[in-house]
Amino acid sequence: MRGVIERYRPYLDLADTPAVTLGEGSTPLISWATWGTTDIFLKLEGTNPTGSFKDRGMTVAISVARQQGAQAVICASTGNTAASAAAYAARAGLPAFVVAPRGQITQEKMLQALVHQATFLTVDGNFDAALAMVRKVAERTSLVTLVNSVNPWRLRGQETGAYEIVDDLGRAPDSLVLPVGNAGNISAYFQGFKRYGHGVPRMLGIQAQGSSPLVSGQDVENPETIASAIRIGKPASKHLAVKAVAESGGAFLAVSDDEILDAQRELAAGGVFVEPASATAYAGIKRLKAQDMLPDGIVAAILTGTGLKDGHTPLKWTQAKTESTDADRLEETLRTLLNGGAVHVAH
Ligand SMILES: *Cc1c(COP(=O)(O)O)cnc(C)c1O
Repeated sequence: MRGVIERYRPYLDLADTPAVTLGEGSTPLISWATWGTTDIFLKLEGTNPTGSFKDRGMTVAISVARQQGAQAVICASTGNTAASAAAYAARAGLPAFVVAPRGQITQEKMLQALVHQATFLTVDGNFDAALAMVRKVAERTSLVTLVNSVNPWRLRGQETGAYEIVDDLGRAPDSLVLPVGNAGNISAYFQGFKRYGHGVPRMLGIQAQGSSPLVSGQDVENPETIASAIRIGKPASKHLAVKAVAESGGAFLAVSDDEILDAQRELAAGGVFVEPASATAYAGIKRLKAQDMLPDGIVAAILTGTGLKDGHTPLKWTQAKTESTDADRLEETLRTLLNGGAVHVAH
């Protein structure tokens, strides 16, 4: 894999910037279902090197930071930005500082930041407070480069997700569905489709009900949802996202935590394991389908991160058979589950 900079360099305005890459991008776009006149496609961004789409933007932001002589990078994070910044900074040989809301990011994501030797700090407060803090510090000193999605290179890199979809389908989908937290990704996809040509989809941004400032139009002081990656009350790219939705004839929609878990379970039952924030996109599709409001044509959903990044949440709905077994009991279990012996079980 050559990474998104080598694949799309002319579209990124990077000239000769050497790429700091882990082979990100070129993720699968799978055909999931056809319901009436709607074809659902899923883009599996969890297959990126650190398990989320953040790698698309991080390769560009950190390549540029290194070329410009940055001595370190810094970010606030609900987890995935920290994991990605830590890995790409390590690849570049730069120290990384990550600031997370205390107790609000998953252990797996914290572990990713730690194994790549980032300096991991927490704040008593939410993501919005952490972002305000690192922005202030990055403005005060030129020693560190901020690699949150307010860094324009992050969004440029994330545009490559849109380019790939057009390359795979031969045109833009009719609708694009994605989870919205800090609102960088929806803005990047919109810009990406515009820049690449071949059409712009209707942009449908899905938020979690307890954390849905773009649906209500009001910042949320204490955002709450099980989908920790989108637990953000004051989206930094709010204005870009509102413009993307308005210009494309799209909409913002909020779904409940129960709908998110349901969507996560349904995707997993079909072989696709994503973290709760990513299931939010599919929950939005399920909601539109239930209300008979699913748009015609190709609907592509961005499944932003792998389920392995949050191993705790699915324990709410999974069940392990923990008693030990033997051959007879195993056969009995099989016969019971497979409908009373209709399926032949060989000895
Ligand atoms: C960062 C992230 C989001 C939200 O993207 P924004 O650009 O902040 O709107 C959604 N899902 C996952 C898994 C993420 O890591």
